[in-house]
This record gives sequence, C-alpha cells and structure tokens, in this order.
Amino acid sequence: MPSKDDKSIDKISALKKNIKKLRLMLSEHRKKEEILKERCERLEMAIEAGGFGFWDWDLITNEAYFNPTYYTMLGYEPGEFTASYQSWYNLLHPDDRINVVPRIKKYVELGQSYEEEFRLRCKDGTWKWISGKGKIFINGASGIPYWAVGVHIDITERKTAKQALLESKKRLDEESDKLRTISENAPFGIVLMDSNGRFEYVNPKFMEMFGYNLHDVPDGKTWFRKAYPDHEYRKNVIKTWLTDLESFKQKSKVGERPNYTFTVTCKDGSKKTINFIPVFLPNGGHLLTCEDITERLYLESQLRQAQKTEAIGTLAGGIAHDFNNILTALMGYATLIKIKLKTTDPLITYADQILTASQKAADLIKNLLAFSRKQPLNLTYIDVNNIIKSTEKLLKRLLTEDIELKTKLTKDNTVIMADQSQIDQILFNLASNARDAMPNGGRLTIETDIVNLDKEYIEKYGFGKPGRYVMIKVTDTGSGMDKDTLDKIFDPFFTTKEVGKGTGLGLATVYGIVKQHNGFINVDSVLNVGTTFHIYLPALSTEIEQIPIEPVSIPTGNETVLVAEDNEDVRAFLKEVLIKHGYRVIEAQDGEDAIKKFMTHKDIDLIILDTVMPKKNGLEAFKEIYKLEPDVRVIFMSGYSRDIVLEKGIGDKEFDFIPKPVEVEKLLLKIREVLSS
Ligand code: ADP
Ligand code: MG
Repeated sequence: MPSKDDKSIDKISALKKNIKKLRLMLSEHRKKEEILKERCERLEMAIEAGGFGFWDWDLITNEAYFNPTYYTMLGYEPGEFTASYQSWYNLLHPDDRINVVPRIKKYVELGQSYEEEFRLRCKDGTWKWISGKGKIFINGASGIPYWAVGVHIDITERKTAKQALLESKKRLDEESDKLRTISENAPFGIVLMDSNGRFEYVNPKFMEMFGYNLHDVPDGKTWFRKAYPDHEYRKNVIKTWLTDLESFKQKSKVGERPNYTFTVTCKDGSKKTINFIPVFLPNGGHLLTCEDITERLYLESQLRQAQKTEAIGTLAGGIAHDFNNILTALMGYATLIKIKLKTTDPLITYADQILTASQKAADLIKNLLAFSRKQPLNLTYIDVNNIIKSTEKLLKRLLTEDIELKTKLTKDNTVIMADQSQIDQILFNLASNARDAMPNGGRLTIETDIVNLDKEYIEKYGFGKPGRYVMIKVTDTGSGMDKDTLDKIFDPFFTTKEVGKGTGLGLATVYGIVKQHNGFINVDSVLNVGTTFHIYLPALSTEIEQIPIEPVSIPTGNETVLVAEDNEDVRAFLKEVLIKHGYRVIEAQDGEDAIKKFMTHKDIDLIILDTVMPKKNGLEAFKEIYKLEPDVRVIFMSGYSRDIVLEKGIGDKEFDFIPKPVEVEKLLLKIREVLSS
C-alpha cells in the first residue's frame, strides 16, 4: 500500500510534467504570434506599397479603420478624420449616396462580396473617382454579418481618359456624319479605294452618273474592264494612270493634283467624258472624284462653232458688200448698152453674156451673204408644200436616174414667212448632197409636218425655241457620216469631195438661210445607212391669197432725185439710168454731202441713200434730213439685208429698200412706187 508521501511525490512529478508541457505550448504560441505579427506587418507594407486605400469596418459598432494611404489618397494627413462608416458617408458624392449606398447595404445583408464605383470629396473640394471592393464576414453560429474589409482605388485618371475617349468618339461620329452628308449629296462622283484596289465606297452621284454600283464594280480591275471595253483604249488609260500616279507620288506636292479626262462607257452603254481627280490617302488607298464634263465640252464646242461662224460671216459679208458695188456697175452698164443698141445689133449678145456672167457672180455672192445672214430677204407668205411640189421636177433632174425621189407632205397648213428663192436653195443644196452620197442609187425622201417644239424637246436636243414649226425632213439612204465629219458639215468651205466637185458652201448656206428665217436645223446620220436633215421654220396660220401677176412696163418720171452713194461707179450708173428715164439727178458722195445737198436744193422729191458710206452712213444722214423735212421720201440701198437698216431704224418707220446689186427694172419700179404713194 503506498504511503501519503508517495502519493504527493507522484502529484508533483505530474505537475512538473504539465508545467513543462505548458511551457512548450507557450513558447510555440509565442512563436506563432511572432510569425502572425510579422505576416500582419508584411501585409500592411504590401498594401501601402500597392498604393491602395485599405479599410475595415465593424458592422456591429460602425467603427472603421483606414490605412495611411487612404488618407493621403484624398489629400488628408493620416488619421486627420475619425475612422468610421459615417466619415466615409460624409465624403460621398450626393448622387452616389442615393445610387450606390443602397446597393452596398444589400450586399452586406446578403454577405456578398461587391465592386462599386463612386466619387469621394478630397480635402481641396475636388472629387475623385474610386473603385471600391469589399468582402463581408458572417458569424457562423448566428448567421449575422459582423465585419467587412476591402480596398478603395483611385480611378479618376482612368475615368477621365475614358470620358475624353467617349467625347472624341462622339465628335468623330459627328464629323463622319457630316462627311457622309457631303459625299451623299455631292454633285460629283466619289470613289474610295483601298490599297488593294478594292472599291470601299461609291457615292450616289457615282451610281447615277455611270449606272454601276459596288456590286457591279467591286474593284479597280473590274472598273477598267467595264468602263473601257475597248481593249486598246483601256490599255492606254491604265498606262496613263500607272506612269502618272507613280511620278506624282514621288513628287507628292501638296495642292498639286493630277487630273485625267477619259471617255467612260456607262452601264447602259452610253459614253460620257469624265474628269478624274485622284487624292492619295496615307493608308495607301485612293479617293477619286469624277466630274461629268460631257455637256460642258459640248456647249464649249457649240460656242466655238458659233464664234467661228460669226467671224467668217463678218468676213464674207464684207467681201460681198464690195463685190456687189462692182457688180452693180457691171450689170448696170451692160443693161444700158442693151437699151442703147438696136435689137438687131449683134453686140447685144455680148451685153447678154456680160449680164449672164454677172448674174452668176451675183448668185455666188448671194451664197456668201446667205451664210453670213446678211442677205437681203424678200419675205412673203409661202406654202412649203407648194414649193416642194413645184420644185419636184427640177430636183428630179438634179438627181441621177437610179435615185428615187419620194415626197410625203402633211395635210396641215404649211405657210411660213420666207424668201421663196432661199427655200428653193435649201432643197437644192440638200438634194445635191444626197445625190453625191448615193453614187450607186438609193432613195431621197422629202417630208413635211407641223411640230410643236416644247420645253421637253428643247431640253432633250439642246436647241430651239418653243413654238409651232413647219418641219422639212430630208432623208437619204446614202453613205452617212462619221462623227468627225458631222461636227464640221456646217463650216463654210468644209468638204470631203474632191477638188472641183465640192465647194463646201452648200450646208453653210443652208445653215445661214435657216437661221435668217429664225429656224433650226439638225442632222442625224448613220455611217453606211443614211442621213436625215430636219429643218424647222416658224409656222404661220395664214392661207395664202393668190395674187395675179401682171406684166410690168418700165415706168419713167420727171421728179428730182438726190443720189447719195460713195462708190463712184455705182453713182455714175444710177445717174445715167435715172436721167435716161426722165428724172433730174443731184449727186452726193457721202452722208454729210447728202445733208448739205439736201439743204441747198429745196426741190428734192426723193433721196436714194446707200446705207454704208463714209463720214455719215445712210441712216445717220437720213436722221438729219428727217429733222429738216419729216415728209421726205427715201429709199435705202444696200448689199446687206434690210434688217440691218431696220434694226437700227427710227421708231417704227417702215423703210423702202432696194438690194444691191441693183437691177435697173426693180429700181425704176421702186422709185415710181415710192413717189406715187
Ligand atoms: P460640198 O457638198 O460642197 O462638199 P456641203 O457644205 O454641201 O459642201 O457639204 C459638206 C460635207 O458634208 C460634204 O462634203 C459631205 O462630206 C458631207 N455631207 C453633206 N450632206 C451629206 C449627206 N446627205 N450624206 C453624207 N454626207 C454629207
Ligand atoms: Mg453640197
């Protein structure tokens, strides 16, 4: 049985053991604490080094902890405000108090981790954008959230950068909207091509101009093939592009742009003259603008043509004027010789020869004047259908036997105000051209019709004035013409015929006559098929009265006539004729002289005035004389058309007029008519 002492010894040794154990446990605990402390310090250092605002929040007491960086992030000294939930709430932006706080409360209730963005007020009053992350801890036994930790990071810079980015994107969108509006409404075509030659964009005008869309021409290669179907032409176009673009790229001067003009074939097969301007883009692509200059070129060529015609007309008119004076003398004296000779005299034939030759010369001059539109017109009411019917026989004689002449005349009234001989001239010129174009025979058709030129027609064909017209259509089945020839046919002296055969005046004359009658002419021609001329002359709605023509006898008189004419030969001839037929003649050699003579000889019954004279012309001289004697009788005389005198006339006074070369009979008839009126 163990003694009381034995028992005590056992207890002591057990205690010692326990103490030893406890010491061991304590030292281990200390070691662990040491490690934990070290870890805590390290963690805190890491957080500081990361520059994060670190916090924890006791959800039961609402007390909190903010690390030093948290304070400095907002511009405070560490510990400058009390660390609590309330302090944080006070710094929060009013909008975020409304939006963000309820959400955070919800996370806390549910014990969920969260991430939110909000603004905190700095010490200097500015706002900082913060990204806040939090983790909630829940008591395992009660299920109540009791603690939260997390970091707050300053994201202001990121946020403003993002905002700036958004704004610049918005501006960019607006800019590109503007650019799109411009290109969608541009009056010229726009193509955007990438560095591989793919068409990225074509604007509506491009599609309207050519008929092609992106689907038709996805790239430059297809474009070249479709727009320039002719192989040779295409090769040239491509070569021009490549060489010029290369050299331009090397120069690459700002403001200097190459530009090209090519004939493009559109989707519907029509051809257009297009001006291209390429712009090189930094990404290696191209921006191409294309302008349709077909119409402009056409108008320019029309204008050039009109100017040229006008200039040649002036020249021709000038020559004709001088020539008419010479012819007047020539024909006049020949007529006088005839009058003086007995009818049996053999010399009469010579006088007749002179007259025939002079008449031919006069006809030539007439052509020149017709073209220059300065020819005196003898306007009367004429029926175009009648003229065609009456010239049909003559025209047939003009044509070769293997050419059939057909007429299709309208039943409508085809009365116009015109010079009959001029309309004849048109028909003859067109018929002889048709004959030359059909050396192996064919058909010549002359048709008439009444047409109304309306706005649509004028827009379509680019000529005319609205109104009712008698149309004469002359069609042959001959050689036709190519475009080059067509462009020039109305030019005086343009002919494709061999020397001696063509004068090149036929169509120029036709053109002049049509214009002088306020009409229009156009021509359609297809090579090896034939040619059609359309002539439009203003229609009248009057039926013609048939005036019986009475045989005329040459009248005489005994009145005093003042003859003002600067050309000595013409003056002498006129004097001779007038004296021969009973008149008294006073001569004046220019306009001023005419006024002087009129004032010194009070008994003058009639003045004959040449329109073109030195010092004062006929009209100017007349104006002076008219002031002295408003009842004066006058006849104007000119190698130019009546219009020139009338155009610049005095008020609505009608003038009597006699064209040069002066024919004796007509002159004497006119003088009698004026004196007897
Ligand atoms: P010319 O007959 O003296 O040559 P024109 O002025 O009458 O002068 O005609 C000019 C040119 O127009 C002609 O040389 C011819 O080439 C062409 N031409 C005119 N009419 C026709 C036609 N009906 N068919 C084919 N070519 C024509
Ligand atoms: Mg001809």
